[in-house]
This record gives sequence, C-alpha cells and structure tokens, in this order.
Amino acid sequence: MAFEGLSERLQSALAKLKGKGKVGEGDVKVAMREVRLALLEADVNYKVVKDFVSKVRERAVGQEVLKSLTPGQQVIKVVNEELTQLMGGSQSKLELSSRPSVIMMVGLQGAGKTTTSGKLGRYLKKQNRKPLLVAGDVYRPAAIRQLEVLGEQVDLPVYSLGDKENPVRIAEQGVAQAKTDGLDTVLIDTAGRLHIDETMMEELKAIKETVRPDEILLVVDAMTGQDAVNVAESFNRELGLTGVVLTKLDGDTRGGAALSVKSVTDCPVKFVGMGEKVDALEPFHPERMASRILG
Ligand code: GDP
Repeated sequence: MAFEGLSERLQSALAKLKGKGKVGEGDVKVAMREVRLALLEADVNYKVVKDFVSKVRERAVGQEVLKSLTPGQQVIKVVNEELTQLMGGSQSKLELSSRPSVIMMVGLQGAGKTTTSGKLGRYLKKQNRKPLLVAGDVYRPAAIRQLEVLGEQVDLPVYSLGDKENPVRIAEQGVAQAKTDGLDTVLIDTAGRLHIDETMMEELKAIKETVRPDEILLVVDAMTGQDAVNVAESFNRELGLTGVVLTKLDGDTRGGAALSVKSVTDCPVKFVGMGEKVDALEPFHPERMASRILG
C-alpha cells in the first residue's frame, strides 16, 4: 500500500492531540517535530517539509477554535488543509481546447509512458472523446507493438510509421491523420531514455514546436521518490510541462513524489497510475489523498 508508513506515523503524531481539551504551543511543537520526521522519512523534499511545518505551526498556534471541534481536532484540520494545498489544492483537469487536441506523453524509459498512453486513451474515450494513439517511441524496440496491443485492448486506433521514421514526422502525420479521420484527441507516445539527455530533449522540443500540444504530461514512477521530482524539474525547465502522471501508486511508494512535485515544480499531478491494467488510471484528487493519508 502506498503511503502506509507516512500515514501511520502522521496519524500517531496527531492522535496525541485529538482528545486534548487544550492545545498549547508546546503540544503543537512536539506534534510538528514528529510530523516533520514522518515527512522526511517518506522522502518529501526537505524544503517542502520545512515550509509545510512552519505553515501548520503558524496557523495552529493561537487560532480561533471552532465550536464543533476540540482544539486537537482543529490542529488536525489545519494539517489536512495544508497537506491538500501541498498537493495542488483542488483537482487539476486536462485542458483540451484545440481540435484536434494534442497530448504529448513524455518521460524516462520504464516510467510507464506507453502504458499510460493507452490508459489515458481509454479514459478519454469514456468521456466521449475520439482519441488516436500515435506510436512515436521509435527507439525502444517493443514500444510500437506494445501501443498497438494496448490500442486493441481499449479499442482505439493506433497510428504508426514503424521505427525507421523521424519521430517529429510521425507526430505531425499522426495529427494530420486524426484530422482526416475526424478524431478529436491525439495522444503521442514519445521516446524516453534511461537518463535525461540532450538528444531526447531536443527531439521532444522539436515535436512540441511542430504539433503545439495542448498538454505535455510527464509520466514518472512514484516509487523513485525524490528522483521523480528531479526528473520533473528538468523536463519542466526544458519543455514546460502542463501536468504530471504519477505511476505505480499501487506499490508501496513512500509518498515523497506525490507530496513534493507540485510545490517544487509548480506542475500539478493530474493522474495517478494504480496498476498495470488499462483501467488502472485515476484523476488525482488532492483533498481525497490528504484525507486518505490522515485516515
Ligand atoms: P515506458 O518505457 O515509460 O513506456 O514504460 P511502460 O509503459 O512499458 O511501463 C513499464 C512497466 O511499468 C510495465 O511493466 C508496466 O506494466 C508498468 N506500469 C506502468 N504503470 C503502472 C502502474 O501504475 N502500476 C504498476 N504496478 N505498474 C505500472
């Protein structure tokens, strides 16, 4: 289960406050020390932790207590609200205004980009859109076939020109094909590498310039914690992301990426991957996630 350790530690840190009729500065200080450790242990960026704890402390000390809550519950409410803010406040939806709308899927190899392209295509089809999947990952040998198989599974067309064509041309032709076929959404699966490199970024920039996407979504593996956040920072600097998809949240990820990525990069998490199957993709709801973590 994702966030299990974090969830347990935060709940135990805050449980001590719950029943208290009076919560003094000292009580808040003790609780916040434990909250701080819990977040650091979950691999949340240290600066994010520092800001978070100081915000909560500021709000929790000396505030008006609502009649319906005990002072302890009030502190927990503040933690819940700040945790929600940390993850983006409210749900960030896709913004698809062009016809056809173009979504570029980017990320490092193995993050789950191709799988997520198929999942997102399925999700958008359920929203009554007509997606086309474009196989632009010409470097990973199995990626094109993988997208074709996914396309069959979710009953969506897949555009491919094989692995000998230039990815920029594939993207451009894919968009043209969508127009010809009356499809309104183009999902471009681009090539990833094992590490960020200049050739990959240049190619992605060229695709961006050519197809002018509505969304550039970075797919990152939540299991990689702070690394995922660093990857997001680099891609955002080079390309300008519109959102992040965190995959493998069904695993026992500690939570660092989910809690840090928005505040470090200012890019919202728009979706989370919850498994290998094509239906295991969910829109990300910060408030629900905060409540789930706090129990
Ligand atoms: P790509 O190289 O980024 O295109 O990565 P793939 O789409 O091939 O995915 C790499 C591996 O991660 C595959 O085995 C996927 O089934 C798996 N995967 C992708 N998303 C998820 C997820 O949300 N949860 C789990 N458990 N596995 C995932």
